[in-house]
Amino acid sequence: MTPSQFITEPARRIPVLLEADVVVVGGGTTGPIAAIAAARQGRKVVLIERFGSLGGNLVLGLNTKPSGALVGGLPLEIWNLARSMGGAGDDYMAVVKTGGVKIASPCDPETMKILITRLCADAGVQILFETVVSEPLLDAGAVAGVVVESKGGRQFIRAKVVIDCSADADVAARAGAPFVMGTGGEEAVMQPVSMYFTMDRVDIARLAEWARTTDDVPARAIPDTVEGLAYGLWLTGFNRSLRKFQEDTGIRLQRDNITLKTADGRMYVNATRVMGVDVFSPVEFTNAVLECYRQIEGVARFLRECIPGFENAKIEQIAPVLGVRETRHILGDYILSGEDSLGGRTFEDSIAADASALDIHDPKGADVDFQGLRPYEIPYRCLLPQKVEQLLVAGRCISADHAAHARSRNMPACMASGQAAGIAAAVAIERGVTVRNAPVAEIQARLRTLGMPLFAHEVKGAVTEAA
Ligand SMILES: Cc1cc2nc3c(=O)[nH]c(=O)nc-3n(C[C@H](O)[C@H](O)[C@H](O)COP(=O)(O)OP(=O)(O)OC[C@H]3O[C@@H](n4cnc5c(N)ncnc54)[C@H](O)[C@@H]3O)c2cc1C
Repeated sequence: MTPSQFITEPARRIPVLLEADVVVVGGGTTGPIAAIAAARQGRKVVLIERFGSLGGNLVLGLNTKPSGALVGGLPLEIWNLARSMGGAGDDYMAVVKTGGVKIASPCDPETMKILITRLCADAGVQILFETVVSEPLLDAGAVAGVVVESKGGRQFIRAKVVIDCSADADVAARAGAPFVMGTGGEEAVMQPVSMYFTMDRVDIARLAEWARTTDDVPARAIPDTVEGLAYGLWLTGFNRSLRKFQEDTGIRLQRDNITLKTADGRMYVNATRVMGVDVFSPVEFTNAVLECYRQIEGVARFLRECIPGFENAKIEQIAPVLGVRETRHILGDYILSGEDSLGGRTFEDSIAADASALDIHDPKGADVDFQGLRPYEIPYRCLLPQKVEQLLVAGRCISADHAAHARSRNMPACMASGQAAGIAAAVAIERGVTVRNAPVAEIQARLRTLGMPLFAHEVKGAVTEAA
């Protein structure tokens, strides 16, 4: 860029909007859990979200389904509450190439939106909607708060600890913490972006009947009862039908397989894909949204014309946000490796046992690899970015390499890391130490009182092996 392509922003004084013990940046899948966890420990918490509702990819992204068992703690509490409101069904064992993998029930996103917002409010969390965190303020290498932008202008929120749940590690990156993008290095690649949509007027019982009889849907969960179909139908495959449709029509759909799932009797379709998008470029980001819309029309036509049960179906809702799978991974005090995430390694400072599936959408366009694997552990050090103090990172951008991220990006792991970050922030503040020096044994003890298993051997029945 030439000098004329830059401007210099004038320095200015900005008002302090709020003072908090803990500021949580990002009210998506992870942030509300971090906020509730810290607030229930008696801390004054501010949760900042750039959109007008909570839930991020889980809710606004229409993902709805944690790909793995929810093994305890706040995530399980929330799912059980959702079930009691009719907003989630029973968990199920999905059949995949590795055998069986236990999947937490999808949730109804609108029920979940109301539920997590209410739990935050009940815990005393101050939510700020439609407020973007633009940068942290550092004091001698420690984060002292964040600058926000809203309709009220540019303001500052002071904090003793900041938890970055922005999914892109926005705060960590701007604070100078080291990170890698995707696979890292010059040729870094990332899992593709996608956009969910829903269809109504689908004859779900007819679809389920057909799915039982075809070998074109190899990964599946097909409930036996009509009631079970409301939340329990999960179908991945359709490769042969998709190939034929593309050959017949000349429409290019970008994926070899697609996934369908039900939540509250509605059909959720995960079928679009755009590769190589720089999501930090507003222009590239927008082009990806346009490409997803093109693909959504094609997929809807494919389903209507080729898949039994969809004859009268129509697009009901397109996710209002683009689903981003991978961007920055912070470099923390420990970097979870692909090998660690296969299970079998134990960490003294584990803050969560996770039973999420391995779920890689090949960055170069090959098919999706979805496997059930034995549980693994997430060390507290993966939440601690190098070089910056009083900052914790939770959610999909924790310190995990590209291979480990294929498990840790899943919602059960994100929510568990959020819970641990909230507890760790509270412990550090109470004990008057930095989050890096927070006593791990005490964090673990408090997580245990929430019913969270910390070590992989404590989680039973999350997977079965193929016969
Ligand atoms: C298409 C797709 C399908 C997926 N399918 C599954 C699945 O079936 N099962 C599964 O377990 N996982 C799935 N995943 C992965 C999983 O959904 C995500 O990794 C997880 O939800 C990420 O949680 P998060 O809290 O880190 O991010 P998010 O849920 O994205 O939350 C981040 C929040 O931070 C807010 N934010 C960001 N920056 C700022 C800022 N600067 N200021 C204020 N707010 C900010 C955002 O608006 C958002 O609400 C899927 C992902 C995608 C994209």
